[in-house]
Amino acid sequence: MIDIKQLVRKNILDLKPYSSARSEFKGKAEIFLDANENPFGRLNRYPDPMQIRIKNKLSEMKKVKLKNIFIGNGSDEVIDLAFRIFCEPGRDKALIFSPTYGMYDVSANINNITLQKIPLTSDFQIDIEKTKPYFNDKNLKLIFICSPNNPTGNSLDIKDIEYILQNFNGIVIIDEAYIDFSKKKSFVSKIKEYNNLIVSQTFSKAWGLAGVRVGTAYANEEIIDLYNKVKPPYNISTPNQEAVIKALDNVALFEKQKYVILQERARLLKAFDENKNVLKIYRTDANFILIEVDDATELYKKLLTQKVVVRNRSNYVPNTLRITVGTEDENNQLLKLL
Ligand SMILES: *Cc1c(COP(=O)(O)O)cnc(C)c1O
Repeated sequence: MIDIKQLVRKNILDLKPYSSARSEFKGKAEIFLDANENPFGRLNRYPDPMQIRIKNKLSEMKKVKLKNIFIGNGSDEVIDLAFRIFCEPGRDKALIFSPTYGMYDVSANINNITLQKIPLTSDFQIDIEKTKPYFNDKNLKLIFICSPNNPTGNSLDIKDIEYILQNFNGIVIIDEAYIDFSKKKSFVSKIKEYNNLIVSQTFSKAWGLAGVRVGTAYANEEIIDLYNKVKPPYNISTPNQEAVIKALDNVALFEKQKYVILQERARLLKAFDENKNVLKIYRTDANFILIEVDDATELYKKLLTQKVVVRNRSNYVPNTLRITVGTEDENNQLLKLL
């Protein structure tokens, strides 16, 4: 077990959190004159600051306790709060395996934290030998592991992830934004085993709610308490909470959409394989495919003239485009243009 307190910024440990009217009053009442709300309208009341209805549903679905769940304003908030809780600006460090999701870098910069980048191997796996020396750095507080990884699409080797969890005396954040598209098992069940593990998931991808901005973090109670301490009191609006509850009440729709996306992914993979303009297809466990072409920037621009936008990832991996799996129609139009 890792001493979590020792990793937390002192001002956060000492912080006396804001206590909202809605969180101070716990009983049942009919007349609410406690929060300076307007008594008229439908969205006149502050939202549930602890999002209990969502957590109840997630608790059942993910087989974790309520106290092990944090709901954030997108995964972006889960990432940003990790920096704010654990990393002293101008002193502490975080580590990523590149190429990976761009927000870790941006969030590190906003918080004035040095981000160390270890390149993934040629098959986009973690280089454990290169990683080991960093474990000795007392100022290294966070390691981000994105699996399935964005923009490469592949999952990272479970053995390497476990090695880091067992040997790093800091916080490990596994970003599972794309886990629903993968056959690999989530690390959520491992939060009991590793008290330094945060597993981040999102409603933005497989759940189809990117516009709603809701992400989740699963972790040991001590870490979740810290998240609740520093989050803005009403971080998830009422309409957004309602949208998530509605989605969680219709798991069949989620499964159906996921099925269609996976079917379409398989179809795209086959079509890319038969297309001579596609030089390489990277393995994917996500709802996107990274391909290498002869001149990615030129092809990107050509597609744009036909009003099709893909993601040019050439700055990360030379001459690559990252293509999100769309509807059957959208994919057909893309294939025609390719
Ligand atoms: C899309 C994505 C997310 C989702 O972020 P939200 O803020 O929840 O929309 C998180 N991590 C990765 C790696 C992603 O690609």
